Formats: sequence, structure tokens, C-alpha cells
Amino acid sequence: NIPVITIDGPGGAGKGTVSQILAEKLGWHLLDSGAIYRVLALAAIHHRFAPDDEESLVALASNLDVKFEVEAEKALTHIILEGEDVTMTIRTQQVADMASKVAALPRVREALLRRQRAFKELPGLVADGRDMGTVVFKDAAAKVYLTASAEERARRRHQQLLEKGIPAKIDQLIAEIQERDERDTNRSVAPLKAAEGSLFVDSTTLTIAEVVDQILEFAHG
Ligand code: C5P
Repeated sequence: NIPVITIDGPGGAGKGTVSQILAEKLGWHLLDSGAIYRVLALAAIHHRFAPDDEESLVALASNLDVKFEVEAEKALTHIILEGEDVTMTIRTQQVADMASKVAALPRVREALLRRQRAFKELPGLVADGRDMGTVVFKDAAAKVYLTASAEERARRRHQQLLEKGIPAKIDQLIAEIQERDERDTNRSVAPLKAAEGSLFVDSTTLTIAEVVDQILEFAHG
């Protein structure tokens, strides 16, 4: 029986950072499922597919040549699409928007299920996404729903962009966050919501270390 901790929640709540630290502390594998949707979105943009062209997108999802290469010492995962390192390219707002559009297509999600479940290997898995606890790893032992206010998530995003020297307006970031939340929450398949029995963590006023501690306590308890 391979243990799984699922971390679901909206974008920018800190799931990525928290999942990475948890996986490191536990010595477990890490699944960044959002990265898979982002890679699919990037490939779709390259192919000039429309976000509602389900037929083409399902075919693309089924044949997606994506590899996750873990760089042990730097604790960084390189994401390789058709041999090209797209680790940074998939992080743009354009790709995020396209990802949340293609992610609303039921058959696209279906086509990515097996690929995600293959990450469940010994000694364990930390799975980060929107539907890890509700769909992909329904039988996970510990499920977490991690969120934060849209304002706080926009503030963090703004900070990250500043550090990269990219100018941004807080109001516009809040609008983008709310638009993506809305699409992820209201779609017909695997809508974003807390899985039954999950630990609810609001990180608005918590540090990363506090969030990690709460989750470890919950998972061990
Ligand atoms: O988490 P991240 O921002 O990388 O996710 C990008 C998009 O991929 C999300 O807005 C969501 O629409 C989609 N996604 C999903 N299911 C997941 C992970 C991500 O639908 N498990």
C-alpha cells in the first residue's frame, strides 16, 4: 500500500512550494499535476489548436511526450516537452489561461489520468493539483485543501514577478486569479473543491513552515 498525500486548492495558495518541501522531508515522489496541464497547453499553443478543439486536444494529451527530470541536488524538476526544457516557459499567464481552458474538457482529463497515477510509487507520493483528492487519488490516506484569499495570492504573485524584474499591476493580477478560480470551480468535470475528509488550511496569514507543520501533523495523526 503506497501512501499518498494530496494537496488541492486554487492557484497561488502555496501548493507548489509546500508540496516540494513535504516531498523532500518525507523522501517521497512529487507530482505537479498542474505542470502536465500547462505542458499540454503549451503544446496546444504551438500547434495553434483552439481551446475548445476537444478532438485534437485529446489526441495531443494521449501522445504527449513529456518527461519530468528531477535534479536531486538543486531540488528542481526540469520539465521536458518533446526534448525541449519548458520548465520556465510553462509559467506564463498565457499558458496558465490556456491550461485552465483545456483542463475543462472531460476527455482531456480522462486522457491524462493514467499518466498522473503512474507517479504513485514507493516510498510514497505528494500530489499537488485541483482534483488529486477528489478524482485522481481518491483513496489517498491524507487529503489537504490549501487556499488563501485572492488578494494575498495576487500579492505573492506580484512579489515573485518583481523579483524577476517583471512589472505587474495588483488589480490585474487579482482579476486574472479570480477568472481562473471561476473557471476551475465551475467546470462540469472535476471542479475545484475540497475532498471529503480533507484538512482545510487557509495560508493567508500563515508562513510556509506553519503550513508544512500542520500538514505533517495531520498526516501522521
Ligand atoms: O496549478 P497550476 O496553476 O499549475 O495549474 C494550471 C491549470 O491546470 C489550473 O488553472 C487548472 O485549470 C488545471 N489543473 C487541473 N487539475 C489539476 C491541476 C491543474 O485542472 N490537477
